[in-house]
Order: sequence, then structure tokens, then C-alpha cells
Amino acid sequence: MCQSCHSGLPLRFEVVDEAGIVAAATAAHESGQAWHFHVLAPGCTFSPKPGAYTFLLELTDAKRALCAYYDDRPTAVNKQLLPLLHGVDALAEKKAGAGLSDEDEALLATIEAAAKAGTGWHHHMMFPACGLNTSDGKWRLFVEIAGSEPKLRDYAEEPSLVLNRIERLYFGLT
Ligand SMILES: [Zn+2]
Ligand SMILES: [Zn+2]
Repeated sequence: MCQSCHSGLPLRFEVVDEAGIVAAATAAHESGQAWHFHVLAPGCTFSPKPGAYTFLLELTDAKRALCAYYDDRPTAVNKQLLPLLHGVDALAEKKAGAGLSDEDEALLATIEAAAKAGTGWHHHMMFPACGLNTSDGKWRLFVEIAGSEPKLRDYAEEPSLVLNRIERLYFGLT
């Protein structure tokens, strides 16, 4: 099934089930093709199906995008694919504060405050080739907190440390 671009998601995509997502991501990973994914929350700027969670897999070398829809946050598939994308220690606890800029610390503090207050939030790590990324070849962190304008930061290289801290907050590991 192929859907035309939705106003929220500026990509053409196919709708598949979770097995289809895992199979395509694993195949791309094993063959060395570029891929990445996003979890789009029900109120996400990019959601193609408001009210549902969307797992978006972008196969950027193959120029394909796949979406699977969920009623609840798709935590299992997220945790399964995250280490393939960002390394086996993607969710490991790292030394606090090491190598983070003041801007990154401020972003983390904002997210932590939202999490503590029970305010809905989520984030997107946008690879340079990402179809959602409007920067010019940068890595972009895009954070959405309910009731606030999205916050974004662009980086010349993958911001692994700050991403690690954000992922740990997202999964309640911190
Ligand atoms: Zn979003
Ligand atoms: Zn993307």
C-alpha cells in the first residue's frame, strides 16, 4: 500500500506491520545501507495519523519510507532497533556532563523539567539525509514538548552524548 504525502509527513511512505519494519531495518543494517527511524507521538508535528503512534523507518539509500501504526508507544521495537542504529551502548549510562555544551545542558534541563512535571514530550534525531531535516547536511535534534514551540539544535557530527542522555530520559532510565 502506498500513500501520498500527508501534510504532517513530507515523505511518500508505505504502511506495513511491525514485522515488516524489523525485517527491513535489519536487512538494511546487514547490507550496510543507510537507514534510520523515528517514533512519531500522537501530537507530533510530523504525524501522518494524528492520535496514533507512528513508527517511521526511512531507508534513505533505497529511497523508501515505511510506517507502522500503534495505539501505544512502540517501546519494544524502538529499543530493539536503537542499538543497531546508534551502537550497543546507545542506552548505557555514561559519565554525566562529559563533553556537553551549555546549550545541550540547557536542553536536557528543559526536557527533565517537562518529564518531572508529567508534560508530554518526545524527540527526533534527524540524520543529515533525513526527510524531515531541513538543515543543510547537519545532524538535527528536534524536541517537542507539549504546549511549547519545538526546540532544535544542529550539529556537524552525530551528537551521541546528548542523544544518549535524551534516550535515557525517554525510556525512564535516569
Ligand atoms: Zn515529533
Ligand atoms: Zn528521518
